[in-house]
Parts: sequence; C-alpha cells; structure tokens
Amino acid sequence: METLTGGSLTDHIALHNLSRILVGIVILSYIATLLPKRIAILGSTGSIGVNALDVIDHLGPDYQVAALSGHSQSKKLLEQIARYKPKSVAVTDPSAFAQIRKELPSPGPELYADMAEMVRRDDIDLVLAAVVGAAGLPAVFAAVETGKILALANKESLVVAGSILIPLARRHNVPILPVDSEHSAIFQAMQCGQPREIKRLILTASGGPFRNAPADKIENATLADALKHPTWQMGSKITIDSATMFNKGLELIEACWLFDLPPEQIDIVIHPESVVHSMVEFNDGNVLAQLSPPDMRTPIQYALTYPERRPSNSRKLDLTQPFSLNFHPPDPERFPALDIARDVARRGGTLGAVMNAANESAVSIFTSGKIPFGMISRAVSHTIARHAVQASPSLDDLMEADRWARKTAEAFIREN
Ligand code: MG
Repeated sequence: METLTGGSLTDHIALHNLSRILVGIVILSYIATLLPKRIAILGSTGSIGVNALDVIDHLGPDYQVAALSGHSQSKKLLEQIARYKPKSVAVTDPSAFAQIRKELPSPGPELYADMAEMVRRDDIDLVLAAVVGAAGLPAVFAAVETGKILALANKESLVVAGSILIPLARRHNVPILPVDSEHSAIFQAMQCGQPREIKRLILTASGGPFRNAPADKIENATLADALKHPTWQMGSKITIDSATMFNKGLELIEACWLFDLPPEQIDIVIHPESVVHSMVEFNDGNVLAQLSPPDMRTPIQYALTYPERRPSNSRKLDLTQPFSLNFHPPDPERFPALDIARDVARRGGTLGAVMNAANESAVSIFTSGKIPFGMISRAVSHTIARHAVQASPSLDDLMEADRWARKTAEAFIREN
C-alpha cells in the first residue's frame, strides 16, 4: 500500500528521522523552559542592580543570580555575594578588587577584574547591563557576541555605538530587551500592531526638579537642587541628567536605535506624574500607552520574564483615589538638551559618543560642586560644535571621539 505521502521507502525513512529530530528539538526547548534562567547583573550595587535583585528574590527559583559586578562599593558587593552565591563576580575598581579578593569566602565565586571577560562565560543566559555610562560598553558587546539575551538598562551603549551594536545583535540573533521604563512601555505598546503601522512614538518625561523653574534659577541651581527628583528614586548621574533633560535626549537617541525610527517620528511630552511611561501612535490614530506607578521593578521584571508575564511585587496603580494625568510640551529654551539631542540623532556618526562623553564629564565636574548647573548644557553644546563628525565610525573611532569630547568639555569648563 502506498503511504499517505506517496513517496518511496527512503522518503519515508527521511521523514521519520526528520520527525524524530523535530520531537527532540521540542523536548529540548521544553526542558530549557524548566531550567532556571541564569542572570548576570552588571552594576549590581547601583539602583537598577538592587531593584533587579529584589525582582529575582520575588520571582523565586526559576531565576538564578549567576554573576554580579560592581565598581567600588566592596562592602555592598560582599553582602550580595554572601546572599546570592553567584558563580562569578567582576570588580572594576582595583582597590575594591584587592579588598574583595582578601575577604571572599572559600570556595567562592571566580573573580574577574574585567566585566566583559566574565560575561563571555557559558553559564550565563541573560545579561542585565545596568552599569552607568560608556564604561559599560565592552561588556554589552561581549554579551551580544556570545549570544546572551541582553536586557539593556545602559542607554549609553546605544547612544555611543548603536550603529555597531544593532547590526551585531542582528547578526548574532540576540534580542535586546529595553529596561529603561520609557522604552519598555513602547516595546509593550508596539506589540499591538506592526512596525510599519507606527506613526510616531511619544516619549514621556517627568520634567525633573526644574520643570517649572525660571531660566535664571536653572542656570545657577546647586547639586542639592538638581538631586531632588519629584517622582523617581535613581542614581545621581541619571537624576542630574533628568534635571538638564539630557536623560530624555539620550532616550530619544536610544529609541531611534531600538525601534529603527528617525527622530522626526519621536516626540517628547512632559508628564509630571510619571505614570504613563510612553505611548505609540499607530497610523489609524489609535494611541497605546503603558501605565504603572514609577517603580523600576516593573520594567526590570518584564525584561527578565519576557515573553512571559508574571505576578510582581512592584507598586500597583491605585484607582480608588482620584488622580489626574497631565501632559504639556517641553520648553526648548529652558532645556537646550532636547534640541541638542535631536540634532545629534539626525546627524549620527560620532556625535552620539561626543554628546554622551561631554555630558558625562560636565556632570562629574558639576557633582564636585565647582560649576553652575547651566554650564553642563553649554559645555556639551560647545563640544559638539567643535567636533569634526565621522559618518561611519569604527568602535576605535567612537572611543577616540569619546576621549576627545571629555578633554574638550573639560577645557571649556576650565576656561569659562
Ligand atoms: Mg527612562
């Protein structure tokens, strides 16, 4: 009797073997879902890192802390090592490294001075990159090159090197899951339509502590003023970036890379309550928003459990009390960072690296209390104006642009 496929015996055997392979793949993928997800947290002593550990505590045994990294907070890192027993730990500050090596329990985790080297280990499934600044870049590249899922909280990686990182992730078939609350909101809302149906993204911004301040008050604001964020509890660099609105500028560039859209299709709106984390407008006029109270555990957990959703321990929206949501356009006169970033997003090349580096150096000098707040934006603007843009830079060109921008911004601040 002929088989249903009507083929020869060899066809039949080939089909039989193929079906065995397919069943094998299905069983292996099923087993993979039963194994815990092994997570590396880069920047575990920072604000995102600490929130991520809280999320992992809550999620239970399906999620395992496989690796941690910190810079100089050795006491906090030692406490985390004792509690989570990771297989590997990276410490980037040399004196903290020496101290941790002395006090490490035995047998303890394998110790690394270089985050990127640790990330290449094969006992890691997902890398949460939560190191602040361009310093996190080599480890992000290492994660992508070795095929790990990348949960990206380090927006500087895309701002500086999006032109290299995005094609690299595509080549290695590595998903980049956004952890920044705005980009997590957009990522979630985008799943209601096709990329080609998107008309624009609407990034919300709290407006920071100087949302309603007059220009002269912003110009001379102190470090204490800049650190008083009205809605979010975050690290000091990002809190100062929220005050200048360079944070929103960096996020605009980050969104261009993550969602493959030009800056003309991304608008920014001030939303003081920080409840609507961003929106997507589709071509038929429907606008989809993601809402939740300002609590970083919500976007962190979504990135860790994606494509699943799980019950969380983050703050929930309370609709039993009256509340209102407000939106208004930003004032580019008082927050020059927005126009600067839009221009950088449009022109591309080495400019993302230059804007980011000049801002990092100006913020670090401002944090030492030596310059007025208004100097940050002026130093970034001056550095960009002096830069000879390279259109298709290599990673070395980007690093060189970064070094040049830091020097140029520092010299400008010294002379003014
Ligand atoms: Mg954000």
